[in-house]
Amino acid sequence: MARRPSSVEIRAYQVGFGDCFLLSFVYSASDRRHVLIDFGSTGLPGKTLKPSTHMPMIAEHIKSVCGAQGLTALVATHRHADHINGFGTESSTGKSGTIIAGLKPRLVLQPWTEDPDARRDARKATRDSSRSRKSFVAGLAAMNNVAAMIADIAGNPPSWMSMSLQKELLFLGQDNIANKSAVQNLIAMGRRKGASAVWAHHGSKAGLEALLPGVKVHVLGPPDLTQSEKIRKQRSRDPDQFWQLLGGGAALNGKNPLSTGVEWGGSGKSHRVPPEARWFRDRLQRLNGQQLLEIVRTLDQQMNNTSLILLFEVFGKKLLFPGDAQIENWTYALEDAPTAAKARALLAEVDVYKVGHHGSLNATPKKGLWEKFRKRNKGLKTLLSTMPGKHGNPRSHTEVPRSTLLKELESRSALTNTMKLKVGETKKSKSAPCLLLTVKP
Ligand SMILES: [Zn+2]
Repeated sequence: MARRPSSVEIRAYQVGFGDCFLLSFVYSASDRRHVLIDFGSTGLPGKTLKPSTHMPMIAEHIKSVCGAQGLTALVATHRHADHINGFGTESSTGKSGTIIAGLKPRLVLQPWTEDPDARRDARKATRDSSRSRKSFVAGLAAMNNVAAMIADIAGNPPSWMSMSLQKELLFLGQDNIANKSAVQNLIAMGRRKGASAVWAHHGSKAGLEALLPGVKVHVLGPPDLTQSEKIRKQRSRDPDQFWQLLGGGAALNGKNPLSTGVEWGGSGKSHRVPPEARWFRDRLQRLNGQQLLEIVRTLDQQMNNTSLILLFEVFGKKLLFPGDAQIENWTYALEDAPTAAKARALLAEVDVYKVGHHGSLNATPKKGLWEKFRKRNKGLKTLLSTMPGKHGNPRSHTEVPRSTLLKELESRSALTNTMKLKVGETKKSKSAPCLLLTVKP
């Protein structure tokens, strides 16, 4: 067998607002090793595409690319619906997760915050938060509940709520719900006989080296709480209220929704809220729109900052996949870690950059990140999976993808953008549901 790949094919799937990338490391004509990074969507382009048929269609395409070798590894960067709901086994996404499970990934890689054991007693990478007295991981699970309630409120909006506020609350609320089916399938895939699960943090091993000879994988983020308190102390205009609410969310059912089976939807339907949690929902309902938005935005950013940041080194090329990591997650790797100088050197030489957070400016700050790539204008390749009109607002310069960033990407790098890919809008269309980027030595 070849000791290192001769090329890497990267497929960027059309999942609308979401991420789905298949990396195929080509060792020989008969030995291709496939790594799937994320599979989720919270909005599809056009009027005819439905998740219940589109997601299984993509899963089938992934299956056909993988062939008999199946999946070498599966990476779920963080728990947002637009990154993992394709792993769900429910009919809402056409049971696409069942097709993926059939590809028998040998490794399931997730951030440390998803470790189901850490979630119960938070021994390992977690530390109790003095403010909420709940562990960070339990806090994340509680956030899913708060998000579901906010989505629920927006689903039956009070008369004062504007259409644009309702849209934003629904979008953010629904992206932050627990995604129970996908989370359970990810756990099950990692527990399959012959497979292993890795929950990684900054500096830890990804577990991919043995499966991908000749490929080095650096885990740059997220830091765990012993490394950085920054991802916990997220900037928020009213952090006290936020943490109080988070404590309230955790108190709703004492434990996380997965272990209790308590779940409040966020699928647009009305949901039954257990009697002991009604006070909390009442309290949420008394907040004004701006406060609700502030909370759900903070939840959203906090979850983004649990994203795995992976950098693959292969035949001298550097491929960067940061999920939706925002600057608070990056800061540890680039400034505070003992290995920060090394991380900065790696970053400077990046050849392929998966644009963070669908082209949101908070994931690719100009000075903090973009200007650190030395190969801008010199062969840098970028990959963007996004869909306009779903998130943010041009008037407040928060639209995703951000127009100024898009312009930079187009003028200073070779951009592969899923916005350009039209699929399945007519029955005659037979084009592949993905764009292909091939990386060679
Ligand atoms: Zn995302």
